[in-house]
Amino acid sequence: MKRDPLEATQVAGLRTLYVTQPDLPPLEDFVASLKEVWDNRILTNGGPFHQRFEQALAETLGVEHLALFANGTLALVTALQALRVTGEVITTPYSFVATAHSLLWNGIKPVFVDIDPVTLNMDPARIEAAITPQTTAILPVHVYGRPCDVRAIQQIADHYNLRVIYDGAHAFGVNTAHDGQSVMRHGDVSMMSFHATKVFNTFEGGALVCQDAKTKRRIDHLKNFGFVDEVTVVAPGINGKMNEFTAAMGLLQLSRIETVLAKRRAIAARYREGLAGVDGIRMVFDRDDASTNYGYFPILIGPEYPMDRDALYWKLRAADIYGRRYFFPLISDFPMYRGMPSAAHANLPSAVEASKRVLCLPIYPDLSPDDQARVIDAIRSH
Ligand SMILES: *Cc1c(COP(=O)(O)O)cnc(C)c1O
Repeated sequence: MKRDPLEATQVAGLRTLYVTQPDLPPLEDFVASLKEVWDNRILTNGGPFHQRFEQALAETLGVEHLALFANGTLALVTALQALRVTGEVITTPYSFVATAHSLLWNGIKPVFVDIDPVTLNMDPARIEAAITPQTTAILPVHVYGRPCDVRAIQQIADHYNLRVIYDGAHAFGVNTAHDGQSVMRHGDVSMMSFHATKVFNTFEGGALVCQDAKTKRRIDHLKNFGFVDEVTVVAPGINGKMNEFTAAMGLLQLSRIETVLAKRRAIAARYREGLAGVDGIRMVFDRDDASTNYGYFPILIGPEYPMDRDALYWKLRAADIYGRRYFFPLISDFPMYRGMPSAAHANLPSAVEASKRVLCLPIYPDLSPDDQARVIDAIRSH
C-alpha cells in the first residue's frame, strides 16, 4: 500500500492554507436579501433578483447580452446547443475537465491542440493543422484568467468559418489589453463560472455572454426547457436556470468585486517579490499584469529546483499548505479521451510539460501576509 506522505509530519497549531477560500459578503446583508426572497415568494424562474443581477452584471462588465445560469458547465453545454455546434471542436487539454466534457455531452468530438508554453493558453499556431471538414468550432480557455490571443483565434475562425466559444470560467472581471474591454466580448459566446472556488462566487452559478439579442433569446429558451410561453416549446432545452438566492448573492458580491480584485493583486505582488530569484521557480504571472484577475497564482517547478513538483506539493502539504496541481492530469489523459489521436503526448508537448511542473499557490483576499510568508518560506527553504 502506498504510504500517505503526510503521516507523522503534520505541523501542530498552524492554520491550514488552502489554494483558495471563498470570499463572502457580511452575513447580515445576505439575511436581508433572504428576507426579501421570503416576502416575494418567488424562488426562481427569472424572479426580481435574477432580473436585477443579470442587468447589473451586464452593466458592470460592459456587455449587452448576458444570460445567467445555475453553473458554468450547464452554461457551456447550452452555448454549444445554442450555436448548433456539431462534428469536431478544437480545444485545449490544459483546463478543468468540464471544458471537454461539455463537448461529449453534446455528442461532439474534442480535438486537442497544444498550448503556448509561456501563457499556457491554446497556441493559435496549432489550430489550423487540426482543422478537418468536420470542424465547426474552437473552444479555447482563458487559463488562470489570462486572455487568449483572441484576435489571432478570431482571424482563423473567420477564415475557416468556425464558431468560437470561450470557456471564461477563470476570467471574471478581466479586460483584454488591446481594447480595455471585457474579455467576454470576444468570440460568439463566452462562459463564466461563479463556483465557490472562483474569483467571483455565488455558491454555484454561471453566465453566458453573446453578441446579439436573438442568440440571447435562444439561450434563454434553452436554459428553461425550451419554453417560449406557457404552451410553446421550441427546443429540447435543459434546466439551467439560476435561482433567486444565488442571484441575491450575486448582487451582493458584485458590490465588492473591486476590493476583491485589488486584494488579490496585492497578494500576487507579494509572491512575486518573495519568490524572485529562487532557482527553478518560474512564476506564470511574473510581472504585474492588468489582464488577469489573480484568481490563481501558478508557479512552474523547473529542473534547477532541488525537488520536483510533486515532492514540493507533498512538502507543502506536510506544512499544512494545500496547493493544487491545476492542471494535472491533462484532460486528454482521462479515460474517455486518452484513446483519441489528438490526445497523444507527442501532439501536446507543452501541455504535458506544464502539467508536470505546475503548482498553484494559495491566493484569496483574506490570505494574511504572515500566512503568505509561510508559503514563501516553505518554498525558499530546502
Ligand atoms: C470551474 C470551471 C468550469 C466549470 O464551472 P462550474 O461553474 O463549476 O460548472 C469549467 N471550466 C473551467 C476552466 C473551470 O475552471
